[in-house]
Amino acid sequence: MPTSVLISGAGPVGLTLALELSRFGVPRRTIDKSASRTDKSKALAVWSRSLELLDRSGAASALIEAGRKMHAVKIMSGRKTIVRVSFDGLASPFPFVLMIPQSETERVLEEKLEALGGNVEFVDLVDDGKTVTSTVVHPDGRKELIVSDWLAGCDGAHSPIRHQLGMPFEGDTVPGTFLLADVHVSGFDMQEDEFPIFWHKSGIVAFFPIATGRYRVIADMGAEPQRGLTLEDVQAIVDQRGPGGLVVSDCVWLAPFTINERKVRDFRAGRVFLAGDAAHIQSPAGGQGMNTGIQDAVNLAWKLAMVIKDRADPELLLDSYSIERSANATQVLKDSGRMLRVGMMQNVAGQAMRDFLIRKLFGLSFVNHRAADRLSELAVAYDQSPLNGPEMKGLGFPSPGHRMAGFGTFGSNGARFSLIAADPADVAVRLKDYMHLIDGDIRSPSALDGMCLVRPDGYVALTTHRDGWEDLTAFLGRVSGA
Ligand SMILES: Cc1cc2nc3c(=O)[nH]c(=O)nc-3n(C[C@H](O)[C@H](O)[C@H](O)COP(=O)(O)OP(=O)(O)OC[C@H]3O[C@@H](n4cnc5c(N)ncnc54)[C@H](O)[C@@H]3O)c2cc1C
Repeated sequence: MPTSVLISGAGPVGLTLALELSRFGVPRRTIDKSASRTDKSKALAVWSRSLELLDRSGAASALIEAGRKMHAVKIMSGRKTIVRVSFDGLASPFPFVLMIPQSETERVLEEKLEALGGNVEFVDLVDDGKTVTSTVVHPDGRKELIVSDWLAGCDGAHSPIRHQLGMPFEGDTVPGTFLLADVHVSGFDMQEDEFPIFWHKSGIVAFFPIATGRYRVIADMGAEPQRGLTLEDVQAIVDQRGPGGLVVSDCVWLAPFTINERKVRDFRAGRVFLAGDAAHIQSPAGGQGMNTGIQDAVNLAWKLAMVIKDRADPELLLDSYSIERSANATQVLKDSGRMLRVGMMQNVAGQAMRDFLIRKLFGLSFVNHRAADRLSELAVAYDQSPLNGPEMKGLGFPSPGHRMAGFGTFGSNGARFSLIAADPADVAVRLKDYMHLIDGDIRSPSALDGMCLVRPDGYVALTTHRDGWEDLTAFLGRVSGA
């Protein structure tokens, strides 16, 4: 079968895209220059929204089995809690953040896939407007040309595809160095399902649980020139900034790192798309990087599938990928940058004021809930999407571009819209020209009146009154390019 989509890069983002396209029956090939997946813990947090989206391929339960559920994050000063944000109240089947090493996340995704497309390195592309021809090199030096309808660059922060396209990676490097250490920590007397971030006048130290007794420790190191870091350096920082009485040992990964905050302006150039770190990199504060990439992949997959299966207008759908995900990445960059800078504040008087204000602000329950919604990515919305149809307020449905919660798993039956209709009997007649775009399982809510069309990724496309067939046909006509 010819390759509809070539995916370059089998990190978490490329694997998610491959999994979603397979679910939709789209022929794809996934290549990676590396023969094996990462053996590093790298991204640890998988948030509620990613789990909801990965649940449709059965990956969420396998991830949960391999990970640890955390129910709250605490910002502390010594032994005093400044803020506690709980995830228990999240309106999701997954009201927690899952801590799982990225190596495990990749293993689970890989195991869900039938086959990857080989240990080959992407080197070059030619997009002639009809197909993309990629030159790849096998480990023995043999060159191969792969012709595909579409190419997805999921090839990480140094993306060769982004370089080939000449796309500027706009943004900055955060001044200073950070420390990352995967260590055993003893002496914690905190709840095991909460993870702490300590703010101290000399900087931050955060503890992200990996396994019982094992943590990823992250700390900012200021502008000090970096010599070789040792376990003693980690212990000194933990003693200075932590709650006291902690002992670190058995270090399996210790590295300095810098933080870049960068993104491309467009996630699409002709027949080529960028997703994940290839398109945006941000501060690790908030653990949003990998989750944002996974959600890029989910957003792109159903749109490609609909276009490849000739159900949809390529321009509307595929351009909306870049518009929606670029706006989201801008927001994530802003939020994670703000979290980092607030935590790293150096001025002592400013720190006291910060701690006071944050305690007051997060004492307000709506602020606290809002923070949990933002961190969990349940609040991701596409308000400015060209895909949004009309809205009929007062029916109890979310607005177009917002996540449809509480109706189970949308998009599990393929790349089709789901319709919620008060009176499902008429649907097949009224929408006869568009039934190929709609899941046959029409849902009929008992409590809500009117109709709501939901995208395959679970975001609302339009809402209308119970006889709003014209709104539906106009929208579906627009999507199908009629
Ligand atoms: C040290 C470290 C710690 C991190 N900690 C966190 C964290 O706590 N939380 C968080 O959210 N994020 C964290 N991240 C970031 C997170 O790892 C990334 O956001 C995530 O890996 C992005 O996934 P991706 O699939 O886009 O890219 P990657 O995981 O980088 O995968 C890209 C893939 O493309 C392949 N590739 C590259 N070039 C080619 C080529 N020419 N041909 C074929 N294949 C190619 C690579 O081999 C790789 O497998 C961390 C990253 C690092 C490095």
